[in-house]
Amino acid sequence: MPRHSEATLAAIKGAIDIVSLIGEYLPLHRAGSKFKALCPFHDDHNPSLEINPERQTYKCWSCGAGGDLFDFVKDYERVEFPEALRMLAERAGVALETPSPASGSGPGKAELLRACAWAERAFRTALVGSDEARGYLQRRGLSAAMVERFGLGFAPDRRDWLLARGRREGVDVALLERAGLVSRGEKDGGLRDRFRGRVIFPIRDIRGRAIAFGGRILPSVEQRMAESGRGVAKYLNSPETPLFQKRRNLYAVDLAREAARSAGWVAVVEGYTDVVAAHQVGLANVVGTLGTALGDDHVQALRRLADRAVLVFDGDEAGQKAADRSLELFLSHEVDVRVLTLPGGQDPCDFLLGEGKAAFLGLVEAAADPLDYLVDRSSSAFDLDDVDGARRAAEAVLDVLARLPGARGAGRAGLDLKAAKALDRLAHRLRLPVEALRRDLAKRRRPDRPAHHHVQLGRIEEGPATSGRTGGDGEASPAPAIRPADLDPLDRELIEILLNEPQVVGQVITRVELSSLRSQAARAILGACYDLHGEGRQATASEVADRLEDPGLRALLASLVSPIDPRPLSERYRNGRYLPRPWRDRLAELLPRLAERAGRDRLRDLEGALAETDPAAEPETYRELWREKMRLMLELRRMVATKKSSDAS
Ligand SMILES: [Zn+2]
Repeated sequence: MPRHSEATLAAIKGAIDIVSLIGEYLPLHRAGSKFKALCPFHDDHNPSLEINPERQTYKCWSCGAGGDLFDFVKDYERVEFPEALRMLAERAGVALETPSPASGSGPGKAELLRACAWAERAFRTALVGSDEARGYLQRRGLSAAMVERFGLGFAPDRRDWLLARGRREGVDVALLERAGLVSRGEKDGGLRDRFRGRVIFPIRDIRGRAIAFGGRILPSVEQRMAESGRGVAKYLNSPETPLFQKRRNLYAVDLAREAARSAGWVAVVEGYTDVVAAHQVGLANVVGTLGTALGDDHVQALRRLADRAVLVFDGDEAGQKAADRSLELFLSHEVDVRVLTLPGGQDPCDFLLGEGKAAFLGLVEAAADPLDYLVDRSSSAFDLDDVDGARRAAEAVLDVLARLPGARGAGRAGLDLKAAKALDRLAHRLRLPVEALRRDLAKRRRPDRPAHHHVQLGRIEEGPATSGRTGGDGEASPAPAIRPADLDPLDRELIEILLNEPQVVGQVITRVELSSLRSQAARAILGACYDLHGEGRQATASEVADRLEDPGLRALLASLVSPIDPRPLSERYRNGRYLPRPWRDRLAELLPRLAERAGRDRLRDLEGALAETDPAAEPETYRELWREKMRLMLELRRMVATKKSSDAS
């Protein structure tokens, strides 16, 4: 860890206002003397994050995230403290006492950002020099102003164009590799450019910093490759890097945020050129997905941009399929969403440039509520004059409705209202009695399937931790957010310690069995820690979060990481060195308690097995169980004795 004195930290804090810092990441609203925002650390529905300009702190009243500007950057950027310090020092223009060694292995985020910024400039310069690339953009109808606004560039069709330029200009090649700009060849292991013969679309984060690139192959290069028998992807993105995860990022999010906020809605399209075309016709509140299906993280990112999301899909078969897939996602998230299907199989770029802004706004105006869309879709997909067709159309809709989560509070009534409306409409379309549909839906929603208990790759399944509050009267089974208070207290203590002091996982893995934890959510998190450890990686909170698919689990995790160090600054540092918090002491206390609990659980299992075993019929088994029980009781007695003696001393 780099040395840094209190004076340095104070200088950085003095130079950066937390309100303007957080304002670069999130839209803020003034609330009295403070500011509010949707919390980025949990699935927030009301602005729960409060920023206090006077104290220069932030705090989420819902998930408990909070701290100072270092904590915010650390948690938002998912970096360790030294990295956050480095980023903020650079921004504040404060020199660090020790030149920053990169944390862990490889370069930090700040270096990667610099490499991407350098590459963006290089690609832009190359575009100026390429008639062919500029000609291609012109033919697509993209204006020079948009080329400038989006920072479009060009990667010449050479193995080592960027590589050679980097070497000439003294850019670290390892850095380019880590940033996904060059890669090693499969055959010779030699380095070469990732993007060749492609128009380049820089992918930027919410603050406008290039973090990755997308490349569209030039038609002439594509043709040449095809003639020589080699297929090549039309579009190619940067690989996942520490800066870029495509399921989290949206294309043009930086350029769209202001317009989205003032319009109150944001449209989502698939392609880069679709986004550029929209901005060109004056619709700046349009973003793109990056070659990946819409997922939970996108929903959250969209909700931070605007209250309503309009999903734009091509009118063709593939577009319809994509629309169907995203419906459930958005329905289950309770966001205000509209589904817009373009007429006549057009793609958004053609439509926008051909028909213009007003025509598109007309479609937005008429865009369907997802449930209406669903009813329309299934009634057009089946032959309704046929009894069987009508039944199957109804089933398709009821299936989706039954899977919708029972939402919390006011939202739940809203969702049920929507569902009731959809049923009415469906009944009308299919000429079926609405009562029958309602009964069918209730039956589908009833959770009569046995709850299963396994945890699969960090994804939380229906199980004891979440299925306890199911209403049996035909309501949807709720999937409540998991709060720290829902966890078993010992489980929670263990997870908190691990997340805040990841180095102890090696100690824990040999002493705590996954199955001995009582809360399923805790098992999922611990399992991810163990997996990371097994792969030789540090189980930091951000790494663990990356392993968890369930947003509820990630929010839980965020609320268990203590972003606030409660100690005063003077106690946190000695001689400019950060003093770790006493997590290890807490672990030393916890491990014997967990062992004792696991022992008691095992004892109960053994007693159950003994009760079910007939000593006359299976004497050998019975004796074996009995011996095991005696051994365990002795062990437990010893544990209790050790605890007493250590309590007394
Ligand atoms: Zn929060």
